[in-house]
Amino acid sequence: MDIKTIAIVGGGTAGWLAANHLGKALLENEQLSITLIESPDIPTIGVGEGTVPAIRQSLQSFGISETEFIRRCDVTFKQSIKFVNWLDKDTHGQQNFYHHLFDMPGSALQDLTARWLANKNSYYAGAVSPQHEVCEGFRAPKNISDPEYAGKLGYAYHLNAAKFAELLSENAKQRFRVEHVRANVQEVILGQNDEIESLVTDSAGKLDFDFYIDCSGFAALLIDKALKVPFISKAEQLFVDKAVVVQVPTANDAVIPPFTISTAHQAGWIWDIALSNRRGVGFVYSSKYMDDETAISKLDTYLGGRLTEHQHRVIPMTVGYRERSWEKNCVALGLAQGFLEPLEATSILLTDFAAEFLAQRFPSSTAQVAAIQQRFNHVMDYAWERVVDFIKLHYCLSDRDDSPFWTDNRDPETMSEELKRRLGQWQDFVPSREDFFSKFEVFDLENYLYVLYGMQHTPKQKQTSIDLEPQSSALQQRLNIVAKQLAGELPQHRDLLDKIKRYGLQKV
Ligand SMILES: Cc1cc2nc3c(=O)[nH]c(=O)nc-3n(C[C@H](O)[C@H](O)[C@H](O)COP(=O)(O)OP(=O)(O)OC[C@H]3O[C@@H](n4cnc5c(N)ncnc54)[C@H](O)[C@@H]3O)c2cc1C
Repeated sequence: MDIKTIAIVGGGTAGWLAANHLGKALLENEQLSITLIESPDIPTIGVGEGTVPAIRQSLQSFGISETEFIRRCDVTFKQSIKFVNWLDKDTHGQQNFYHHLFDMPGSALQDLTARWLANKNSYYAGAVSPQHEVCEGFRAPKNISDPEYAGKLGYAYHLNAAKFAELLSENAKQRFRVEHVRANVQEVILGQNDEIESLVTDSAGKLDFDFYIDCSGFAALLIDKALKVPFISKAEQLFVDKAVVVQVPTANDAVIPPFTISTAHQAGWIWDIALSNRRGVGFVYSSKYMDDETAISKLDTYLGGRLTEHQHRVIPMTVGYRERSWEKNCVALGLAQGFLEPLEATSILLTDFAAEFLAQRFPSSTAQVAAIQQRFNHVMDYAWERVVDFIKLHYCLSDRDDSPFWTDNRDPETMSEELKRRLGQWQDFVPSREDFFSKFEVFDLENYLYVLYGMQHTPKQKQTSIDLEPQSSALQQRLNIVAKQLAGELPQHRDLLDKIKRYGLQKV
């Protein structure tokens, strides 16, 4: 049977990202229709403001102008996550920090890393990339004369999630013929072989489709409630399960950090994301180690005693993912597929990746489903597991012992076998590209090095096989010059955003 009608249930970031990916990939098939059904009553989660660089490629492929995106979604540039106090304050100092940069140093990485390992007298990120200095100077990653989506340095964005969904929605409807139905799905009817046959809605009646994408958020209406696909909990490995979130308006001339600030505390961490007109702040914690009242009071302290001036809400987080993201004639994406925690902004990343993967291989008939489904589920499993490991890495490398939250995080029982194996190996050897053998790894060598060496987890043995002089010395000097140049020439972050709003970037 041909697949001619697709329903996407849910109009949050996941639903509209899926609509754009599928709409674009399947546009030429005029027999095929895509309908997004969204509840007029159930709000989207309204958080999810940090992204990673891969989002640029998707936005560009959807035909969205970067200038319009920046103007409409209160966007700021994100070049890094600055991790503050993830190490013990007594040993490493108050406000100790490191950057997980988006710049990938390329072929110079090995030599610059070897050079840094030989003396370790500076920040690792600063020793391998000019972006460290650019970030610390609050500079933008590009100039007004750089074309859309291109930068002097790697970057992603901070954005207003509600406005982003609106922009994606307009684009999918106008460019890719996606139909939009506002109705509450009240019942999911299963047919032969327990496949989804139709959706019963309150205001649009009974709707039949050939294929379904579940983007209904934590409700997971189709994949969980109807198809009952089990959920793999990762709560034993990743302890945080709650967040208090608040939005704090900022002045028109307030300085905007070009990175997310992630500050660790006794039982989790705080995100601080600056948009062009406000800060989004979230106090993330483990309910096993801290109660709501303490979390709220500590967030108040972080905000200088001004929490009561703003509305805040507590969001519980279900930590884990679906055993099978693709079941029968349904694929789950976004929060319906799973969620770990926001530490490395992996949720939109995984949704974007999965939606594109699906769109590129979307079956035109039911006969093609089994093979693609098996591959999709396998790839998603692998990606989720590696993301769990990468997030866990930040916790288990910490030498903080100011609460059982941190000491328990170092218990090997709470780490995957793969992470233990890798960490064991990296006690003796410098991580290499060969340690990351799959293209579905999500986080690569550079990402691991920024975190491992930012957290001062370096090999015990000195690396003697690498000739440090004179090649690496020349590389280091060149990097220092480039860092100084960029930190001097690139505009202040806010100045560039203001200019883009006024004049726009060059179209590609
Ligand atoms: C505390 C927190 C912080 C986060 N921070 C980040 C971050 O920095 N970076 C990042 O990448 N991700 C982050 N995320 C994840 C991010 O918020 C989500 O990936 C993203 O918002 C996508 O959500 P969604 O579209 O899957 O779900 P939602 O936004 O919840 O949308 C669900 C949709 O389903 C619809 N729906 C529900 N029930 C029905 C029904 N019965 N009938 C019809 N429609 C229905 C709703 O109306 C809504 O449109 C964070 C998540 C949390 C919890």
